[in-house]
Amino acid sequence: MTSNLNTILLPEKQEIWQETLNWQPDETQQQMFQSIYDEILAVNRHLNLTRITEPDEFWEKHIWDSLRGVRSLLTSVNSPLRIIDIGTGGGFPGLPIAITFPQSSVTLLDSTCKKITFLDQLIAKLGINNVESIMGRSEDIGRQKKYRQTYDIALIRAVGSASVCAEYALPFLKVGGLAILYRGNWTDEEMEGLKPAVEQLGGAIESIEQFTTPLSNSIRHCLYLRLISPTPVKFPRGVGVPAQHPL
Ligand code: SAM
Repeated sequence: MTSNLNTILLPEKQEIWQETLNWQPDETQQQMFQSIYDEILAVNRHLNLTRITEPDEFWEKHIWDSLRGVRSLLTSVNSPLRIIDIGTGGGFPGLPIAITFPQSSVTLLDSTCKKITFLDQLIAKLGINNVESIMGRSEDIGRQKKYRQTYDIALIRAVGSASVCAEYALPFLKVGGLAILYRGNWTDEEMEGLKPAVEQLGGAIESIEQFTTPLSNSIRHCLYLRLISPTPVKFPRGVGVPAQHPL
């Protein structure tokens, strides 16, 4: 294990993985999480990938939080899945998930060219071959035959309001697929607003999980939306429309 002062790998983290997610990364996966941190830190000053640079906070808010959203899959999934991370930024939550599920294929989508260029270099350095990156807007890519209705899971964190995220994510799903919206706070009012939007998109709100992060005890939520019938072809609307006029 590394003796780097900026290590995110401490023995107690393995205990936390076990206690909170009933799972632990192996040595190779841990080293890859460390490499993500090292590489992001190295470019962050000019690329502005994250404001979270302190090792424990990075581990909790980027690595642990990414995997908390797929907790139920960590111990149950053996078959390969097609997963897309929409608005991935520095690779969250998609990259830790790709490292954790090497038998699945993960698409990292972002509209910022510099971020995708960085991710391509990082993926090459990590030597993982189950990740592809795409530069583009989800409103465009979600209409393309190659990507529309082809994914089992769509992940989206910190990209917009919940109904905007739903409009970005659901068109990518096969019927029966799951969108996972990573949220901070979540209120009953937001819930009332989201329900009709999800229904228009062919989905249903399956569950909402509230949890506490293990180091800073912050409250977070994950929303799980199931696609029940194919998303109508009019969605997603044109570039910028979902954000300007949320459903
Ligand atoms: N998901 C990452 C995370 O949680 O750390 C990054 C979040 S960052 C605040 C939002 C990212 O979404 C940016 O990198 C931005 O370029 C991307 N983005 C925003 N709207 C998008 C869209 N319509 N299609 C694709 N990417 C988008």
